[in-house]
Amino acid sequence: MIEVENRAVSPLTRLNEEERMFQSVVRKFAREQIAPHVREMDETGVFKKDLIHQFFEMGLMGIEIPEEHGGQGGTFFQSILAIEELAAVDPSAAVIVDVQNTLFINAIMRWGNEDQKRRYLRRIATELLGSYALSEAGSGSDAFALQTRARQDGSDWLLNGRKLWITNAAEAGLFLIFANARPEAGYKGITCFLVERGFPGFQVGKKEDKLGIRASSTCELILDDCRVPAENVLGEVGKGYKIAIETLNEGRIGIGAQMLGLARAALDHALAYAKQRKQFGKAIAEFQGIQFDLAQMATEIEATRLLVYNAARLREVGAPFLTEAAMAKYFGSQVAEATASRALEIFGGVGFTKDYPVEKLYRDAKIGRIYEGTSNMQRMTIAKQLLG
Ligand SMILES: Cc1cc2nc3c(=O)[nH]c(=O)nc-3n(C[C@H](O)[C@H](O)[C@H](O)COP(=O)(O)OP(=O)(O)OC[C@H]3O[C@@H](n4cnc5c(N)ncnc54)[C@H](O)[C@@H]3O)c2cc1C
Repeated sequence: MIEVENRAVSPLTRLNEEERMFQSVVRKFAREQIAPHVREMDETGVFKKDLIHQFFEMGLMGIEIPEEHGGQGGTFFQSILAIEELAAVDPSAAVIVDVQNTLFINAIMRWGNEDQKRRYLRRIATELLGSYALSEAGSGSDAFALQTRARQDGSDWLLNGRKLWITNAAEAGLFLIFANARPEAGYKGITCFLVERGFPGFQVGKKEDKLGIRASSTCELILDDCRVPAENVLGEVGKGYKIAIETLNEGRIGIGAQMLGLARAALDHALAYAKQRKQFGKAIAEFQGIQFDLAQMATEIEATRLLVYNAARLREVGAPFLTEAAMAKYFGSQVAEATASRALEIFGGVGFTKDYPVEKLYRDAKIGRIYEGTSNMQRMTIAKQLLG
């Protein structure tokens, strides 16, 4: 900490003692426990249940949940550090933890009433994986055009419709589902419901076979007169759009962190390979052409880290962070894609095979430009702020 004009200023990337310890615990866990399974999970498209169990045991599935509800009582910044560290080993692992913490728990902590928190938070922190279901086949970027409907039936609600692209859905026990309860009111009818997997009329449908983050499940949800008790409306009827906007703004910082961890991993692999691969009688790392690539990658990763950490720190102190979060996700996903691509080229032919880890990072990077708002949607958010 340096004193500048009587103000205490800390460099953005300097971690406090607690953050450093947390980071090193997650890093060690990811390298020792997750890394050995990454290739198999990518090939089979299934994330090991035992690892999800370990996420719960380590407290990674309820980072910000207060201790009195069984959580870690940690910070948003710690969630961001966890996502980055996991992504450096497996971006699929990172998105499981990301959705749980930055979208799912975040929404329940902010909008849940005392009864909902008492009923669900302890289970969420210890055993219940969550999903966040907004998108549908016809509404992605135009999320509030969703067609899933909710109508009252006595004191219950009946949900009808289909959700698409829902992360964690194959394994989740609790789903936040956005449905329109008053279509005549447009987006002001959108309402968020807490739906348990066992509720009548609820079904998890087809699982997608994807290019990247293959071990993270992405499924359709089928709601066929799905019966939800009135006490499971999250927040108020008609306030679902607000819940979605607020949580997704924060979720984007998480995706920025996922992209940061991914890019870091790509650079680490490229550095190690460049030092040992010999051509023309010397290590390829000795060629200036390769060094320039490595320097470019490192610089862009550092810029991503600054954007992601700054957005997270702003969120933590309650300062506005909307534009910064959009920039972190937009830039981070570009950097991850470019870094993974450069790393793959540094590996040459073997980089193009599944015997080396960079082709997977290249495939995994692509999702960063699509989910939680495509790159164009981020650019629209940034431009709106610029133009006022
Ligand atoms: C692996 C994966 C996991 C996901 N997980 C979840 C999840 O857990 N929960 C959830 O609710 N959703 C999830 N999604 C959905 C994701 O958020 C959407 O796919 C994303 O928002 C884009 O929507 P879309 O696919 O319908 O594309 P579209 O909205 O159809 O966009 C197609 C193209 O048009 C562009 N475009 C659209 N509108 C404009 C415009 N106005 N100006 C300029 N360009 C525009 C887009 O940028 C994009 O390039 C996931 C998706 C994937 C692939």
